[in-house]
Amino acid sequence: MGRSVRGRPIYAVYAGSGPAVFITAGQHGNEHPGPELMLHFLRDLKTCNFVVKESALCKVRYVVVPVVNPDGFDSWERTNANHVDPNRNWPAGWGGPGSMPGSCCAICRGGSPLDQPETKAVYGLLSSERYAIHIDLHSGTEVLAWPPGCAQLGVSRFTELYRRLAQRHVEIASKYGITPYDYGNIIEKYADVPPEFLAMKIYEACGAIDDTVDYKLNKPSFVLEISSPYNPTYSTLTSYYYPRLQAVLASLAEYAYSTQPSVATPVILTILASTVSAFSSALYTSLKA
Ligand SMILES: [Zn+2]
Repeated sequence: MGRSVRGRPIYAVYAGSGPAVFITAGQHGNEHPGPELMLHFLRDLKTCNFVVKESALCKVRYVVVPVVNPDGFDSWERTNANHVDPNRNWPAGWGGPGSMPGSCCAICRGGSPLDQPETKAVYGLLSSERYAIHIDLHSGTEVLAWPPGCAQLGVSRFTELYRRLAQRHVEIASKYGITPYDYGNIIEKYADVPPEFLAMKIYEACGAIDDTVDYKLNKPSFVLEISSPYNPTYSTLTSYYYPRLQAVLASLAEYAYSTQPSVATPVILTILASTVSAFSSALYTSLKA
């Protein structure tokens, strides 16, 4: 659905029918768990074969952009080939705390919102697709977070929904003996911390995708930081983190299904094998088991 700075294709994978959960991963090219687990998820969706056996997972549609930043992914770099952080280049809160001007740094936001081909392409899809809820996958810590990640945007109108779905993910995880994620957002967690010290508690990130989906596109949006190691071993990723991700997605799928249950039918999955193999050949090949 678009091309990177270096001309690499950016893929969107569509699976299933009914109200949709929109999933983005791989904005940060050095965080491979999100892209890798999305391939596992799409594979298992075909037979509805999950550790988390919640039927909602298989009753909704998924729009998945497994690798938003394919140049960074290929070179194991956080930023894109212009050395801009895609997740500081989104419109909502652009230019605020947690980002730096221009390019050539880990949190550089670019010259203007959406001036990078990757964010521009994905924003186009986020604006035109129909979906009930969005989630963006990262790694480097372990938390299920919701907007705002940029305090100046103020409390989100979806705050009660976010809290309810985060709590639901805990219930689902508990049911299957899975460790749930800590959850919250910077305003709630650090309400008593003076703004000038906020960055010491959790790094604020203005110009991020989840705030843009919430405040600009009026859809609820989560961020999931999957794992504290940026790239855990493959066996830990699949045995420990993947079920935790499933518990999160089950909660979101339940919500999506509830918005439009009459049109939802069981998943009939069609994925171009070449699309998936284009990613999987590159995935995790450098990781030690
Ligand atoms: Zn990240």
